[in-house]
Amino acid sequence: MKHHRAVTLISILLVLCGAPAIAQSAFQVGTASAKPGQKATGFLEVTPGPDAGTSIPVAVVSGAKPGPVLALVSGSHGTEYASIIALEKVIQAIDPAQVSGTVIIVPLVNIQSFEQKVPHVNPIDGKSMNRYYPGRQDGSQTERVSWLITKQIVERSDYLVDYHGGDLDENLRPYAYWPKSGNAQQDSITRDMTLAFGLDHIIIWSDRPKDPNASRYLDNTANTRGKPAIAVEAGYAGTVQPDDVALLVNGTFSLMRYLKMLPGPATVVEHPVWIGKIDTVTSERPGIFYPLVQRGTYVSPGMKIGYVTDYFGNVIYEAKAPAAGVILDICAGPTMKKDDTIANVGEITTNP
Ligand SMILES: [Zn+2]
Repeated sequence: MKHHRAVTLISILLVLCGAPAIAQSAFQVGTASAKPGQKATGFLEVTPGPDAGTSIPVAVVSGAKPGPVLALVSGSHGTEYASIIALEKVIQAIDPAQVSGTVIIVPLVNIQSFEQKVPHVNPIDGKSMNRYYPGRQDGSQTERVSWLITKQIVERSDYLVDYHGGDLDENLRPYAYWPKSGNAQQDSITRDMTLAFGLDHIIIWSDRPKDPNASRYLDNTANTRGKPAIAVEAGYAGTVQPDDVALLVNGTFSLMRYLKMLPGPATVVEHPVWIGKIDTVTSERPGIFYPLVQRGTYVSPGMKIGYVTDYFGNVIYEAKAPAAGVILDICAGPTMKKDDTIANVGEITTNP
């Protein structure tokens, strides 16, 4: 008891004497622990539940100088490769000596999707890993992963970026989402974050869940907890194009400059194309899909963007643009089921 009291007093003295002891403390996420000036890697261990457990790779970059905590997460869709490779490159390139603050990097959330080349979902439980936030501690693997990321990544961050791209079946042009929450101060920060990331097409996304306990998406989980977050997408159809990877890597470092986590000015996109509404065109018939336009093509209302044939080559459905806009993504392969997405058309709006 006496010994215990002595230890307590020493602890209090240490806390009161403060700064040097705190400055030396390590930042730990899962098994990755980095002291200031260090970069460390490890794993977030997800314990088995009704289904198997998993280990999610995580890197912690603890900057030499103090600053905010920024979380970078990709690969919740494990075959959106360009976004995953981009964060691998960020892990390698980032220099803790230059960083003010802490960067938590989770480059591949959905390992089973990556390994088994299964798009859109976690093959363990058939769920999208960006639809079940904030997750459940006692749920299936996707829900347990989401719960752990909420607790270990989102709640400990000040800012967050969620990285995506066109999946195996999506020909997608790069764009960012600006999540407009209605909170003017937070919206101003996320707008600036989006511009600092530098992608030149920006989707204004306002109709999102407001309830932090039903936040659904990762970036929305952060935003509903008062932590400014954006989502970015580049890459398409299983490819790893250097241009797409570079957009995401350069955008990350530019955003870090905007947040004063790296020295130097951010490269801000000055006149982006703002997208105010997305029209999803789906197929009324199953069959073989033939696109007539490319990702990024600008279309006018009624323009034919693709068609579906039966298995003998007879045209059974023609897809038309419902409005003027830009093809954000269009189906990348011939496989077409009824109600599958043919394309998403972004309607352009004025500078918000
Ligand atoms: Zn995705």
